[in-house]
Amino acid sequence: MGLMKGKRGIIVGVANNKSIAWGVAQQLKEAGAEIAFTYLNSALEKRVRPLAESLGSEVVLPCDVQDEAQLEAVFTELGERWGNIDFVVHAVAFANRDDLKNPFSQTSREGFQLALDVSAYSLISMTRAALPIMNEGGSIVTMTYLGAMRAIPGYNIMGVAKAALEASVRYLAAELGEKGIRVNAVSAGPIKTLAASGVGNFNEKLRVMEARSPLKRTVSQEEVGKASLYLLSDLATGVTGEVHYVDGGFSIAEG
Ligand code: NAD
Repeated sequence: MGLMKGKRGIIVGVANNKSIAWGVAQQLKEAGAEIAFTYLNSALEKRVRPLAESLGSEVVLPCDVQDEAQLEAVFTELGERWGNIDFVVHAVAFANRDDLKNPFSQTSREGFQLALDVSAYSLISMTRAALPIMNEGGSIVTMTYLGAMRAIPGYNIMGVAKAALEASVRYLAAELGEKGIRVNAVSAGPIKTLAASGVGNFNEKLRVMEARSPLKRTVSQEEVGKASLYLLSDLATGVTGEVHYVDGGFSIAEG
């Protein structure tokens, strides 16, 4: 298709081949993009490196978003290798299992801070680190979920983190619009991944979506990848500050 030919950027959030970020990577590669990847720790490096290599990517760097110096080092390295970049994919989230499982009112202060730091603040710090090397026309995409808007059983503190993430998308978009940089979120329906395994009643969410969404099925990693490709490409040059739902219409039809 060549939609991303000549464009370079980074994907943060591949843990394995089930990751939503991996679905995005495959679409970007097929469209001609050159992609750098990161991994959270050495256990995940073993999974991420072969995946990156399978797409011909040579740049694979460590990145724990809670480590500000490491985050900045990633973009310094990209600047040295490539000069500038055109896109950033932020597909990172974390909350303590207890804070997802316990009644919401039992959320610990520490758990609140951890979930918000990894899942929402990291979009702000990543954007700040990327800005010095971001081309005009650049695009940033993050991943969110309907639990930001509604109290979804079992989503708990992650819903609060996603609400902060979606607000951050709007504030970043408002600030960066005059630099020609766009910031958007994709709100995906439930997909079985490593992160999803921590969310309570997850299989129930898949069943409810199949039963009640207009498309009468769940969505795929590939479909989230295609919507992200649109937002990251020049097809979406007029789109910023948006939450783009890829959930088979569930969010509008589920009353
Ligand atoms: P995943 O487990 O494959 O990806 C989550 C990623 O976050 C992993 O790569 C993990 O290494 C990374 N991560 C966690 N803590 C980190 C840290 N401190 N520093 C750097 N990276 C860190 O699961 P996924 O479902 O593909 O999740 C990707 C994004 O999609 C998340 O933001 C998630 O909330 C969102 N999302 C998922 C679903 C779903 O149903 N799977 C639905 C909507 C939105």
